Amino acid sequence: MNNKKIYINTVGCQMNVNDSERIAAMLQPLGYIQTKKRQEADLILFNTCTVRAGAEESLLQNIANLKNLKSKKTGKILIAVAGCVAQQMGEQLLKRYPWVDLVVGTHNLHLLPDMLMDAENGKQRVETAFLDDNAEVERFSAIRREARISAFVTVMQGCDNFCSYCIVPFVRGREVSRRFTDVLDEVSELAAIGVKEIVLLGQNVNSYGIKGVKQPPFFVLLRAVTAISGIERVRFVTSHPKDMSDDLISCFAELPKLCGSLHLPAQSGSNRILRAMNRGYTREHYLDTIGKLRKARPDIKITGDMIVGFPGETEAEFEETLSLMEEVNYFDLFSFVYSPRPGTKAAEFDDNLEKEVKLERLGRLQKLQGIHSRIHNEGYVGSTQRVLVEGLAKRHGQVSGRCDSGRIVNLTGTPSLIGKTVDVKILEGYANSLLGELEK
Ligand code: SF4
Repeated sequence: MNNKKIYINTVGCQMNVNDSERIAAMLQPLGYIQTKKRQEADLILFNTCTVRAGAEESLLQNIANLKNLKSKKTGKILIAVAGCVAQQMGEQLLKRYPWVDLVVGTHNLHLLPDMLMDAENGKQRVETAFLDDNAEVERFSAIRREARISAFVTVMQGCDNFCSYCIVPFVRGREVSRRFTDVLDEVSELAAIGVKEIVLLGQNVNSYGIKGVKQPPFFVLLRAVTAISGIERVRFVTSHPKDMSDDLISCFAELPKLCGSLHLPAQSGSNRILRAMNRGYTREHYLDTIGKLRKARPDIKITGDMIVGFPGETEAEFEETLSLMEEVNYFDLFSFVYSPRPGTKAAEFDDNLEKEVKLERLGRLQKLQGIHSRIHNEGYVGSTQRVLVEGLAKRHGQVSGRCDSGRIVNLTGTPSLIGKTVDVKILEGYANSLLGELEK
């Protein structure tokens, strides 16, 4: 079979990164191997995100620019659009950009090989129908993967929370949990090929097992995954503050393999804004949860997301967000200016804040977070961290891994360290990473 090359452009959340991995594995039997050079690709696939307006606009510009590439390239080049923009725009994408060959929605990735064969024969296709809740095989088929150190394992998909600003429930569909035994089987298979770290993945992993076909609760799944021999570390993402149960929090005290970091997006520090966002918790509840987590695992590192400039956000409400940040002392924070997403509840609100005001607030918030992150990183200096070495660092002669909190640690060492967990003395703390040396 002649090898063809696929260039995958992935934007957005970890779910999309995982789907891109699934796509690459799925298309391998058709002779497609991945390339990082778009100009040599036979197939360009955009795996898209519609959570923020900016990402969607730049995707559409990219697709528009491909018209020339497609007409100039000798031989046939195929263009595919997957992910949330594909789900939302469907047929419209083909109407606007007739040089696109296929549009595959968030529930239809299993159809991709078939769609691609049609595209190779000149037939355009759009597939965006949502699957039935029982279509587990199509949704959750395990990815056949090469040996690696760390792997994501999807445990649930979709979201029922309908936060007022968020498009995800409309483009990813309702919450469906993967069968408990299937998750454990995939983790066992990964352990057998040498995977050491598992990241359990879902839009809202805390509500695993609750919706659709019932499964044991997430904390039970977590305990079972950490019990699998060969797996040294377990993380999970993303959590919803309203669904962090005491049973789940106690896992941080009781499971040594569960890493001491948690992504727990607050989105705002103001109760009025949280209500308008339909987040389902208050600032007090959020802080209470953080307190319980710190009691269970005193050194736990909390990361989060914040939206700045939600419709009607006053200066005082924004300052409540800053004060929440001071109280939580985030390890890292992903922060965004609010942008209305058509079809969501918040898109009907009066988006009355000037762009300059939003950007000015974002700048203040990011400056504060920069200080907090730097203090966290500098706090590591002189300590010894257990580091799971994952690969070569960018700098020659160094390898790179992560400590328990997930922070990247670079250290001098040979490739023989890859896959090992080693004690590393931390020498320097930078903005986003640490530098260390093997403990003597
Ligand atoms: S919990 Fe809210 S923000 Fe997260 S995916 Fe669901 S609707 Fe979107």
